[in-house]
Amino acid sequence: MADCADVIRYIVNKAAGAGVRVYPIAAVTLGQEGRELTDFEALVRAGAVAFSDDGRPVMTAAMMAKAMKAAAGLGKLVISHCEDTSLAGGIINEGAVSSRLGMKGLPGAAEEVQAARETALAASYGLPVHIAHVSTALCVAIIRDTKRRGAKVTCETCPHYFSLDESYTLSCDADYRMNPPLRTKADVAASLRASKTAR
Ligand SMILES: [Zn+2]
Repeated sequence: MADCADVIRYIVNKAAGAGVRVYPIAAVTLGQEGRELTDFEALVRAGAVAFSDDGRPVMTAAMMAKAMKAAAGLGKLVISHCEDTSLAGGIINEGAVSSRLGMKGLPGAAEEVQAARETALAASYGLPVHIAHVSTALCVAIIRDTKRRGAKVTCETCPHYFSLDESYTLSCDADYRMNPPLRTKADVAASLRASKTAR
């Protein structure tokens, strides 16, 4: 993610003559390191449409709250890649398949813990937040429940999370590895159900 206005401006200018619409998302923190907020105002002026450290989580609740407030003040929102890295470590889902392969897993809880945090922040402060690439049933439930309570939470998922489950990773084909990882059949069913009933 671009963390300085010049890069956002460069992207916008390059895209201007390209015949496609490009909506740049700027980094939440400098170098996506979670330590210092980027210059939100300058980034929006340059053309940023939202903020995200996607690929990495914003690890502290305080920093995420600060980011959500700064973004909302400019009429923008933060897109959260939910992954508590203290629980992370593997490249496939933690569970039956990772045990069978003898590989370290990345648990659904790593995503759910942060989704719960972001939705709690959104509810407490009345600020919007977007949860990226939802992959677990509990994450769907957390978001749905908080939305019902009136929080300004939105989310999305990707086709592989509602069509492929962790059993595909048994093939050891790297095409089936991504972050978050492919989850259980129950997670896939929940993601599909949620995508059909989203409001
Ligand atoms: Zn991500």
